[in-house]
Amino acid sequence: MADALVIVGASYAGVQLAASARDMGFAAPIVLLGDELHAPYQRPPLSKGLLSGKTSADQLALRGPDFYAEQQIELRLGVRATAIDPAARRVQLDDGSHLDYGWLALATGARCRPLPLPGAQLKGVHELRTLDDALAVHAALDACGPGKRACVIGGGFIGLEVAAALTASGTQVTVIEGQPRLLARSFPPMMSAYVAAAHRKRGVTLELGCGVQALQGDDGGQVRSVRLANGQVLPCDRVVLGIGVVPNVELAQAAGIECADGILVDGLGRTSAPHVLAMGDVANMVLPAVPGGPERMRLESIQAANDGARAAASLIAGQPQPLSAVPWFWSEQHDLKFQMAGIPAPGDQVVTRGDMGSDRFTQFYVRGGAVAAAHSVNRPAEHMLARKLIANRAVIPAEVLADPEADLKPFSTIPNFRPAG
Ligand code: FAD
Ligand code: NAP
Repeated sequence: MADALVIVGASYAGVQLAASARDMGFAAPIVLLGDELHAPYQRPPLSKGLLSGKTSADQLALRGPDFYAEQQIELRLGVRATAIDPAARRVQLDDGSHLDYGWLALATGARCRPLPLPGAQLKGVHELRTLDDALAVHAALDACGPGKRACVIGGGFIGLEVAAALTASGTQVTVIEGQPRLLARSFPPMMSAYVAAAHRKRGVTLELGCGVQALQGDDGGQVRSVRLANGQVLPCDRVVLGIGVVPNVELAQAAGIECADGILVDGLGRTSAPHVLAMGDVANMVLPAVPGGPERMRLESIQAANDGARAAASLIAGQPQPLSAVPWFWSEQHDLKFQMAGIPAPGDQVVTRGDMGSDRFTQFYVRGGAVAAAHSVNRPAEHMLARKLIANRAVIPAEVLADPEADLKPFSTIPNFRPAG
């Protein structure tokens, strides 16, 4: 097994790496290790359909049941890697055994950031990362009966998707966000304001710019309210936390591999240790160069996990193709489908195409004259086009970009296209 590819973490990044390595002709053994007991599954429905009742747990498999055997990928579940030794090319497992590797991939993802406040351990307080977490939230809310109230702490994607799903299933929801606006990590202020108005319009209560002081329980240790820093007390039956994640870097750190908000990797997933790769939520990767854009960052999305895995697979298979795709991801909240492409930066010119009032529009972010990023709401075709425009660094006059009747396709296919006149 000294030539084996050993992958730690059996989720999006790990599964895609195994699949792509096989697709690209990697013939040595592949061992995919996961510490969860479920076969690899889709996470997006955990904060959407699974909570609203539209999706069930048995619909979530990432790959069909025969996939791993057919691809000769040894999937080992319920096993945790506890240490790695890059000099000896060896991984230690929690069952006392070890594996030798030719290539090691760290696809260990991220875990929920803990809430460091009194009451965080009360019954009825839930985090949401795994299938088991989501099933627990669903069961807990079911048990509350009609008229149930939930507080969601954190106004990021988890918090807002959960708020939408719970509202759809008849729960009264309050979202509490410490920042003065929603989605501050991903969205510029204008989009944050749109999202806040959209949630309020659909029945969600928002408490913005206000920290939580404590969670308060009853004599049975069940959460009953959330006390805010401004003194307000919000009664509730359940609390869901969506306060961000921390990357699972401990294996790498203990082995002396360079980390800084994630494991540092290049565009092919290479870490500072030879023959050790990383990808997905745990990896802080070098991004394709975009003027005025970040040189590297940790992107917490499925597309980034898949693209990072494909780039690493190309290295392993001897046909290195560094990461080149425009980053994109999506979110579903109420009847709104958000699709995001590229990474906006402060100072970008914002051009709106479509009507924000009708919940069908795209915000384009223009940098140095070129389209650098786009956020679409209920405009899937425009999102697909935006990805091409960003990849082409299309230069489009603002009045053309803003005109919903203007055809943008030529800008995506013809290099340096300029409209007549
Ligand atoms: P993870 O999915 O975190 O998987 C890592 C795996 O490795 C885990 O199973 C972990 O238990 C295991 N592991 C860790 N350490 C070890 C070890 N030492 N030994 C063995 N196994 C180990 N992204 C989108 O783009 N769109 C969405 O709509 C979306 N919705 C989401 C909804 C929810 C509720 C959540 C939680 C996330 C969502 N995301 C979404 C984010 C997306 O799921 C992540 O970006 C993606 O899962 C990252 O994949 P990964 O393989 O890098 O890591
Ligand atoms: P997130 O996007 O980091 O948002 C968390 C928010 O909670 C931040 O605004 C944070 O503010 C705030 N917060 C932190 N502590 C708080 C406190 N004590 N009180 C009130 N607010 C607090 O993370 P997330 O929404 O939890 O999502 C977790 C992960 O899942 C991320 O990787 C995310 O990308 C992924 N995910 C993605 C999707 C999608 O792509 N559609 C959907 C769901 C989840 P600060 O920044 O100030 O800490």
